[in-house]
Amino acid sequence: MAKLPTVRDLVKLYGLSAKATLSQNFIFDKNITDKIVRCAGITAKDALVVEVGPGPGLLTRSILDTNVSNVIALEKDERFLPSLQQLADTADNRLKILQGDALKMPQNKILELANLVPNDPSQRVHIVGNLPFNVATPLLIQWLQQLNRKEGLFGNADVWMTLMFQKEVAQRICAPVNTSERGRLAVIAQTLCKAQIPYVVPSTAFLPKPKVDAAIVQLQPLPSQDIPYTLLEDILRFFFTRKRKSTSHIMNLLQSKLKLAEPIVTDIPNNARPENITNEQFVALANTLRANGVTSVP
Ligand code: SAM
Repeated sequence: MAKLPTVRDLVKLYGLSAKATLSQNFIFDKNITDKIVRCAGITAKDALVVEVGPGPGLLTRSILDTNVSNVIALEKDERFLPSLQQLADTADNRLKILQGDALKMPQNKILELANLVPNDPSQRVHIVGNLPFNVATPLLIQWLQQLNRKEGLFGNADVWMTLMFQKEVAQRICAPVNTSERGRLAVIAQTLCKAQIPYVVPSTAFLPKPKVDAAIVQLQPLPSQDIPYTLLEDILRFFFTRKRKSTSHIMNLLQSKLKLAEPIVTDIPNNARPENITNEQFVALANTLRANGVTSVP
């Protein structure tokens, strides 16, 4: 790559002060952005990397340093476009910039810009981002829904996500059974993906420094299963809004809500709490209800 000003200098040059409304906490230490990219495991040169929220672009530089040939940087804040364009100009056509809101961006726009054949199972895609904390969870939920429906980018078999969250949120996503952090997000994420935290990033790594530490979550899709996803979401909402109740109490309530003629037979233990139920037990319950003609839980 041709010589570029440092990201710190670019921020000064373009007067890019951080906007709290867009959850802008920048990283200026390349050792840290390199480590995030190592967590992503970008090995295939022809992989597509979609970076969400590149900001001034240091993480983007670390991504380009892997020599990957196809990078799309999706940024909402127009102020970063000139500095990102400067980076693109030195990146031998490997970096394209898309301006817009990641929550609303139609995925066919990304596919078109990336020049990808839709639904090609051999195409590796990485979604990487030091995500804006205020939209990180809605973004993940949207991507998990798309993964489940095999839509857009997720029409490809192999979409790995390597994403920064507040540490507490990361722990909730990866929470194993029998832990107090466990909730709906953990079960949904872990039903669709292998989820792990390879890197806890201290708050001091960011500028301005956020109130809490952050952590990288890596999510790799599991082989796809036929799961009644919206029914599973309903069941999880039903259980986890009753986090302090016993599972037998919740199952009785569910039974009467659904007005089923026969009792629901499951392997969910009686005197447990929702956090003690495994992903497999929740999925089995969703499948049993579906087999009994249930499509949603009111
Ligand atoms: N990647 C940079 C870094 O590591 O220094 C910046 C990370 S900063 C935490 C989050 C970035 O996401 C900011 O550049 C912000 O403008 C951008 N952003 C915020 N909301 C967004 C959205 N809805 N869609 C796309 N980008 C967004």
